[in-house]
Amino acid sequence: MNEFFKKTGAWLEKHVVVGILIIALLAFIVIVPCVYKEYCTSPKTFKADRVSEGIVPTDEDLKNAVKYDRVVIFGVDGAGGYFGQCDTPNFDRIFSEGNINLNGVSQYPTVSSQNWASMLYGVTAQKHQITNTQASLLPHLGVKYPSVFKTYAKHHKDATYFSAVDWIPVNYGIIENGIKGMTKKYAKSMVKDDGSEYAIDKKVAELAVERLEKHRDAITFLHFDCVDHAGHGVGYGSAPFVAALQEVDRDMGIVYDAYREKGLVEGTLFICVSDHGHALTGGHGGEEETEKVVTLAVAGGKGNIVKGTCGKYVTHDLASVILYALGEKQPAHYEGGVPKNLFSTLELE
Ligand SMILES: [Zn+2]
Repeated sequence: MNEFFKKTGAWLEKHVVVGILIIALLAFIVIVPCVYKEYCTSPKTFKADRVSEGIVPTDEDLKNAVKYDRVVIFGVDGAGGYFGQCDTPNFDRIFSEGNINLNGVSQYPTVSSQNWASMLYGVTAQKHQITNTQASLLPHLGVKYPSVFKTYAKHHKDATYFSAVDWIPVNYGIIENGIKGMTKKYAKSMVKDDGSEYAIDKKVAELAVERLEKHRDAITFLHFDCVDHAGHGVGYGSAPFVAALQEVDRDMGIVYDAYREKGLVEGTLFICVSDHGHALTGGHGGEEETEKVVTLAVAGGKGNIVKGTCGKYVTHDLASVILYALGEKQPAHYEGGVPKNLFSTLELE
């Protein structure tokens, strides 16, 4: 053994640079997976500020609930809590009489699939374990948790649902196939100039308007992605980020007006959410405040939305909000609830 160390030592003396590179490579191979496992995948890793403080509605609460006929969700990828920091006239006219929380908390880590899945499943990312890779490659395979569509469909055999997305994994890997009454649309494949995220997001809005001609879906989910693209490129709050947010604002206005023209606003609960924000220098996945922050805005015409700002909101609370608005009990495995001071029909602080 001594001979081995002697020889190795002599060799390293002769090849110092190569030796350092080999040691660095070995350290990289060992350290990187450990760090990744600890901070990105371990179910034990759960940051305390991701704990929901929402209300789990009781049977009595549901009896006293004011039911909406339908819920429409505007999902704005990467927008963080930036609404209100720039001119967004459509967001304002839809939600200013409702409840707006621009300081919600993203899942840990601050990644898209982790958050969209949490929003639609009602559980934390540590529970559902979905990553962007999985959602991109596998159609809800091996996922133990039902989406809010599937949960609602269980007791409402005749209801229909609609989900139009810019970012494919939401419809492909997160929302199940085979839900009765569910229609999924992939806007990206329908736009010729698929280099333009604005055009794809606009298509999402157009698909929602088109859908309204013949259907009254119980839950409509619309995913917009141009803000996320801008955030990756140049960062949270940059000029292109703001321009993209204003573009999505126009898209939301198009959809809202279609509901208004058909006299459907009163019976519809409109929600706007984001999955995460972006670092000031661009990108997300880390723990900077501008990456973690998310939006929850809620508006409805039935007089039971508390005007102002609700209590703590974590992204996995969204499924509870959707189900409560429709008068449906949330499953026992949910880890979220309805944020306090959101609906006047639930206990207020
Ligand atoms: Zn995202």
